[in-house]
Amino acid sequence: MEPIQASLKKWMRDNESFQKRFQEIRRETISDPEIQKVMEKHPQLSDSVIDRNLMRLYEYKSQSKNCEDCPSLAACKNILKGYTPLIEVDEQDVRLTYDRCYRKVQEDEQREKQTLIQSLYMPKDVLEASIEDLDHSDLERSNAIRETVQYLQSIGTKQAEKGLYFSGPFGVGKTYFLGAIAKELAERRIGSMLIYMPEFVREMKSSLKDDSVNRKVEEFKKVPVLMLDDIGSESLSAWFRDEILGSILQYRMMERLPIFFTSNYTMNQLENHLATSNRGDTEQLKAGRIMERIKQVSKEVPIFGTNRRNM
Ligand code: ADP
Ligand code: MG
Repeated sequence: MEPIQASLKKWMRDNESFQKRFQEIRRETISDPEIQKVMEKHPQLSDSVIDRNLMRLYEYKSQSKNCEDCPSLAACKNILKGYTPLIEVDEQDVRLTYDRCYRKVQEDEQREKQTLIQSLYMPKDVLEASIEDLDHSDLERSNAIRETVQYLQSIGTKQAEKGLYFSGPFGVGKTYFLGAIAKELAERRIGSMLIYMPEFVREMKSSLKDDSVNRKVEEFKKVPVLMLDDIGSESLSAWFRDEILGSILQYRMMERLPIFFTSNYTMNQLENHLATSNRGDTEQLKAGRIMERIKQVSKEVPIFGTNRRNM
């Protein structure tokens, strides 16, 4: 009999300490101001419902609500990082659910925006450009600013099917405009892809036989807004012009998808560049065809002004 007696005693002792602990938690929980508020709001909550749901109420009490006890998202104190507890009460039951806290919502949105802007071979600081930082009193760029603002206002209308072609000398801020527009598009949940043309051509040539060329071309055809930086500064081949650039332009023209360009050349000057491949051949007709498509997908906007590099 002895062992049974001993275990029974132990069980009663454990049960006693369990009961004691339970009562402590109960006291601690129902005296908590947050739980008091819940109870005031739901006076129908009976003791037995409270007892049955004590662990849920205790969990609710112990979690930070709406970030009030957390200094940052990284230092979130909750069981589920970035989630805030919500409590729902009816006659018989208490339900505990979790929802993203406002800091997590903000961070998720920020991350989503970043993934909306893709770039290839572009310097990082381009993506730090913003429309607010454009100097709106700058007369030399006022036309470009006006066109940019008009484009952004026209999003969702037929007019936005055409991007802008920023032409002008080195250093006046053409690439900066692309970065600022990409960021503004991301704010509106529109994806964009920025590509630095000289590197792009170089890479396309080196991966000529590679499957990745086709994959990339497909991507550039379909991205909502394509931005080609510094067109005209690449060393052009007839293959790149007709097979790659030509097919991207053709597709986007048919699908009415905009392209933004920057170039040291005006559209007229670019036509000459496109007519001369790196072997020195002149192919005016094909270049003219490419230019026609460029004009279909974008509108020329000259930018004048001083060189902003090292300012
Ligand atoms: P471009 O493409 O015409 O050669 P960039 O866009 O590269 O010129 O601009 C040249 C430099 O001036 C860059 O360092 C860029 O960050 C800076 N810049 C251009 N526009 C602005 C602006 N509105 N505000 C601040 N910095 C600018
Ligand atoms: Mg540039």
